[in-house]
Amino acid sequence: MSWFIRKEKGINTPTEMKREAPDGLWYQCPNCKKITPTREHKQNAFTCPHCNYHEKVGSDVYFNLLFDDNEFIELDENLVSGDPLGFVDTKAYPDRIKSTMKKTGLKDAVRTGHGKMNGLDLVIACMDFSFIGGSMGSVVGEKIARAISYSLEKKIPFLMISKSGGARMMEAGFSLMQMAKTSARLAQLSEAKVPYISLLTDPTTGGVTASYAMLGDFNISEPEALIGFAGPRVIRETIGKDLPKGFQSAEFVLEHGFLDFIVDRKDLKDKLTSLLNMLK
Ligand SMILES: [Zn+2]
Repeated sequence: MSWFIRKEKGINTPTEMKREAPDGLWYQCPNCKKITPTREHKQNAFTCPHCNYHEKVGSDVYFNLLFDDNEFIELDENLVSGDPLGFVDTKAYPDRIKSTMKKTGLKDAVRTGHGKMNGLDLVIACMDFSFIGGSMGSVVGEKIARAISYSLEKKIPFLMISKSGGARMMEAGFSLMQMAKTSARLAQLSEAKVPYISLLTDPTTGGVTASYAMLGDFNISEPEALIGFAGPRVIRETIGKDLPKGFQSAEFVLEHGFLDFIVDRKDLKDKLTSLLNMLK
């Protein structure tokens, strides 16, 4: 019966190969499992036409989506990380940075730029989750702080798009200092009455939530984004209670008064434009 019963082990198809549609042609939604042509998915701002699942996307997609004709001046694009602590985990930190740069084509976990959105000047800082989990180290903090100063100097509204696991472990205290630095700079922006809009996308957690992501004149979010400070397991263990349903989803956070509104990515440009027009 060896032709009928699989005797040998290790010839199973790995799960990820089973589920993956051929690259480039089709997109399979991880939420509803339905298939969409990649082109249609892209035209739909990388949201699922069946269930509206918002795929995680990087700064290139947001810049393309928001800046008119994808034209913008990138700010501080060559800032790269040092290794202040000589940090080594499974790899030395400088090696991790180097290999991540190669893999992602990015220099760090945030890109900043100045361009026009429906004709309105706008500075955007957008995080990239693909770069060490969108973690906030000194480069991320410094680039955001400089982008805020740029906004302040030119009196241009500032949009922060967050997507981050929190502070970058490999820079420890240096990462945490970025929270104070960016927050202080945002206070100056607020004093000068230059609008600051913070868009939280899936996921926004840790030190990023605890600093610039929640300091907007408007804090807005994409649907169903995970928003929180500590993870649910840590909280459950700390308070010794079960957590309510939908805890840490954008909808839950909105209901509890921490967000102003939730915006579909397809409507993002229009909504931001009317918001900025109102604030002029
Ligand atoms: Zn779907």
